Amino acid sequence: MQKERPYDSWKWDRAHRLRLCKLMTKRKLGGMFNQSYPARFGICHHHPMASCATSALSSAFSTMQLETDEDLGRTDSLSTLNYHLDFASNDGNVVLAAKDAKLYFRVHAFTLKTASGFFRTMFALPQQDNQPSDIVYLDEDADVLASLLRMLCGLSFPEIPSLDMLQSLLFAAEKYDMPGPMSLMRMYLLTQSLGLDPIRLYALARRYEWDHESKVLSSDTLTLNLFDEKHHPSLRTLSTDALLDLVVLHRSRRDGLRKCLNEAPFVTGDPSTCIQCHALITNETWRELKHRIVAEMDERPLGDTVLDSGLSTWPEAIACWRAACRTETCKRLLYDKTETIRVVKECIEGLPRTV
Ligand SMILES: [Zn+2]
Repeated sequence: MQKERPYDSWKWDRAHRLRLCKLMTKRKLGGMFNQSYPARFGICHHHPMASCATSALSSAFSTMQLETDEDLGRTDSLSTLNYHLDFASNDGNVVLAAKDAKLYFRVHAFTLKTASGFFRTMFALPQQDNQPSDIVYLDEDADVLASLLRMLCGLSFPEIPSLDMLQSLLFAAEKYDMPGPMSLMRMYLLTQSLGLDPIRLYALARRYEWDHESKVLSSDTLTLNLFDEKHHPSLRTLSTDALLDLVVLHRSRRDGLRKCLNEAPFVTGDPSTCIQCHALITNETWRELKHRIVAEMDERPLGDTVLDSGLSTWPEAIACWRAACRTETCKRLLYDKTETIRVVKECIEGLPRTV
């Protein structure tokens, strides 16, 4: 499996953060900030840094506006806000606002600085005084922010009701550089895979370069026919490398089993002679059964349906097990059902299971 870089993710390292801080400080001193947002952190909504190497960080900053004490009449204003019940304590000295500012969250600055590279950088920027307690307007929906903060603040792990929510949470944790929630959701990816779309879960694992999870989840897709139109929307969420690896895995299982069925100890399928009476044997029923097995692997590369029921109930299988030499005095059964199923099972178990 090839490594890949998340195609639209962004990460910044310590050097980037420091450069950003220096740049912002320099620009602040130079009076280049947009005065419509006289933020105490000195962050401008239309900052020209969007074109620099840390544009993603700059862009993330742009999703918030910070208001001064004078703007808010701070103490009174903060006490009347609509707080999330889990984050309403007056002890919290930072107020986060969810998208559209309909719900607010009081959080400790220490927690944010400790668990989020984004906020650590933000609080490291020059401030007017030493008590960061203004409102930070974020771009996440309230339910996303609530779940993220629960993870960040050590509250019970929130139920994640859908893949869309899981994806939003991962994107937010990545955006705010929160390794704790990221690691929790990384574990969650495997525990909750049942019942969710394994292709999209695999896509998330590949996006974050989680190799073990990618392998496990790629295996979970083997019950699916990737070429079925209903899976196309999920497949479109994959990067090219991730998609290619998955297609190769599925195809290699089908092709691998076909190769196995064409080799000893299986008969070739070409006409041969009866070992007992030397009459001509066409092997037609075996050829048809092989074709059915390979077609089934296209539909469901896991191969479980071949073994569980196919080789016992398919008309092609029944015909094969009943096939006998045509000589009236011979009538030897041509194929050993039990031994054939055993060897087919061995072949399937030897196929690659993960990307
Ligand atoms: Zn015979």
